[in-house]
Amino acid sequence: MFENDAAEFQAYLNDLHRQHQSLTSGRVADYIPELAKANPDWFSICVATVDGQVFTTGDADQLFTIQSISKVFVQGLALEDHGRDYFLTRVGVEPTGDAFNSIVLDEQSKRPYNPMVNAGAIATTSLIKGDSPTDRLNRMLDMFRRYIGHDIFVDISTFTSERTTGNRNRAMAYLMYNFGMIDARIEEALDLYFQQCSIMVDCRDLAVMAATLANRGINPITRERAVAPNYIRDILSVMYTCGMYNFAGEWAYKIGLPAKSGVSGGIIVVVPDQIGIAIFSPLLDPRGNSVRGVKVCEAISEYFDLHLFDSSMGCRTFLQRLSHPTR
Ligand code: GLU
Repeated sequence: MFENDAAEFQAYLNDLHRQHQSLTSGRVADYIPELAKANPDWFSICVATVDGQVFTTGDADQLFTIQSISKVFVQGLALEDHGRDYFLTRVGVEPTGDAFNSIVLDEQSKRPYNPMVNAGAIATTSLIKGDSPTDRLNRMLDMFRRYIGHDIFVDISTFTSERTTGNRNRAMAYLMYNFGMIDARIEEALDLYFQQCSIMVDCRDLAVMAATLANRGINPITRERAVAPNYIRDILSVMYTCGMYNFAGEWAYKIGLPAKSGVSGGIIVVVPDQIGIAIFSPLLDPRGNSVRGVKVCEAISEYFDLHLFDSSMGCRTFLQRLSHPTR
């Protein structure tokens, strides 16, 4: 079995990258021109540890829009702004087998099902506090900066395209307004949602963001706190049950780790107290998950016994083995 010193782990990732590069099934998202421009060959696997090591492969610094992966982090900010009890009056935490963009609310409570489907994400974004639209945007950008460790920006063409074509999201927002789940600033909440989806990141950034969640909210590189530690469990539970579109159940069953994917081809995976994993490859399967990303995560989870419910010690001892190659 693998001895896991840092050089060997890098070699393992390089091999994994090589093995999966030849997978060319799937399709690049094309609902807006900015996403359709993605190169199907782009591919990167990055891992960041809670003690600040970062391993990268392939196109680790290729920028792309974060899309739905942003929902995880905005949920954290909304929880900080309002607390768990109030948050739960506006957004549920129930998985749904429906597609991410389904226009369905819980029949009894009228809440959107969870913060990872679009309706729930828009309701979550509408909760972000601030004195003005600019203030709310700046608070959100600052939150992302803390997770990533450097300044970030919104890609204006993607934002404009999302806004121009986002009528389905607009319909959901109006439906939620009708039921009193969001307030009257509907277009502003939608703008903020489209802006959060259009933030530019690279695969390395995503690994550090995932490692920040793994590290109970402290960025392992800058040591800055990105989110209050008491909301990590909220975020990771929702990622675990709802993070992978309508593949979430199978993902939890097979891979067994909290994760979130986005339509631009990113996936983040959190191994609590150990590592954050990120994969970027824009070729998507019919449910909207990166084809190579899912396969790579299956391979890593199995190789290191990372499934949370696996009886072996793999999950707990991964970092130990990485730092102490002789064990
Ligand atoms: N901006 C996208 C939408 O709301 C998010 C897509 C995604 O990554 O799932 O339709």
